[in-house]
Amino acid sequence: MMSLRLPSIDGLLRHPACVPLLERHGRESLLASLRQLLDELRPGVLDGQLSAVEISPEVLAGRVGERLAQQQRSNVRRVFNLTGTVLHTNLGRALLPDEAIDAVQMAARYPLNLEFDLASGKRGDRDDLIEGLIRELTGAEAVTVVNNNAAAVLLTLNSLGARKEGIISRGELIEIGGAFRIPDIMARAGVRLHEVGTTNRTHAKDYEAAINPRSGLIMRVHASNYSIEGFTARVPTSELAELAHRHGLPLLEDLGSGSLLDLTRWGLPAEPTVRQALLDGADIVTFSGDKLLGGPQAGLIVGRKELIAKIKKNPLKRALRVDKLTLAALEAVLGLYRDPDRLAERLPSLRLLTRPQADIFAQASRLQPALADVLGETWTVSAVHALGMIGSGSQPVARLPSAALCMRPQVSKRLRGRYLLNLEVALRGLPIPVLGRIDDDALWLDLRQLDDEPAWLAQLPHLQVDR
Ligand SMILES: *Cc1c(COP(=O)(O)O)cnc(C)c1O
Repeated sequence: MMSLRLPSIDGLLRHPACVPLLERHGRESLLASLRQLLDELRPGVLDGQLSAVEISPEVLAGRVGERLAQQQRSNVRRVFNLTGTVLHTNLGRALLPDEAIDAVQMAARYPLNLEFDLASGKRGDRDDLIEGLIRELTGAEAVTVVNNNAAAVLLTLNSLGARKEGIISRGELIEIGGAFRIPDIMARAGVRLHEVGTTNRTHAKDYEAAINPRSGLIMRVHASNYSIEGFTARVPTSELAELAHRHGLPLLEDLGSGSLLDLTRWGLPAEPTVRQALLDGADIVTFSGDKLLGGPQAGLIVGRKELIAKIKKNPLKRALRVDKLTLAALEAVLGLYRDPDRLAERLPSLRLLTRPQADIFAQASRLQPALADVLGETWTVSAVHALGMIGSGSQPVARLPSAALCMRPQVSKRLRGRYLLNLEVALRGLPIPVLGRIDDDALWLDLRQLDDEPAWLAQLPHLQVDR
């Protein structure tokens, strides 16, 4: 048999099959990919294991083209969040409304008055861009914005309590995902932790007994991702504020999600509002921009003017500040809160959270045949009622009545786990990865957040499940 030879690099580069690749990806990338592929094929050619077709310029160009396309694909990818958790931290939390997306585009494209006062022509302060709105929406005297709520808590503690003691209930020494633990953050902020009360019950007298000349502040933290039920006691914010002020101490309240409006008007579980915390006497309230607020990742610090001024003077503020894109998005989102009657239509996170179960169930029923068709006889696919969650530490025990496509493998119990995992992998492998959850020997796709039904349906034929 005559021995085959790989085409030369130069020959390939000039070959018509490679010309479009050269134009699309540039000479350097194409050259590197070609060299790599030829190196990989060389042993097979020497062993006589490859056919002439397998090393033809057309086939090589096709393979290199696939590799280059793969490399060019962005690592940041859109997914379908059908997990049932709406504000999913690992999937980017709140989705921005069009108004915010437009504002981000403007801020990205053009110079802007980020720190420039157009009225006086003098240097401005980026917090001023949203201060008016925040005051109007929360009743706060002043505001400063940082990168996220974790930064807001760190900065506030460090500004107001460094080298002093921070008094906090043992029931509020929480850990939130991603290694954010209140005792650790306090330590990093230079505040000495003075814990009082017990896990389930803390009384005013516990706080009172802890106050001493080294005390710097009293802190209250929203329990966020767990709940204490049964024999419990907690001092109301108004009483705690009165106690703090009697001793000349500021009261900080980390609300976590912190809603700007009472969510019960939309039938959602009650969450403390920022305005109420301030009315109750908290001196500083911190909360996230991308949880219930429905905006970009940010941490808002609101409250008394002189305390905010102190926080803004801290050099850490410069390290934790937000960028122009965030501020542009935040202002646009806050603007929507001026019209609460239309908020649920305009703010995607609220629209999704308030989607009626009947609506979601109708969607599940509509999509069931297409999915059943693709999966074939091994699977039963049904439209069912399901329970979702708000996510991001808002109302950890509350469930959102929702609906799902539920897929059960019709195989022996021994094989079920493997079938479910393979299906999960296949859904993740779609052009727009689909993320659901496995529970009770089934894979569930909660459809509360399936907005783009055509895109979801269009990629179904690509689904390839390994057995
Ligand atoms: C979520 C949360 C945080 C952290 O907020 P990020 O915006 O994610 O940094 C801090 N405290 C509480 C109580 C929270 O729920």
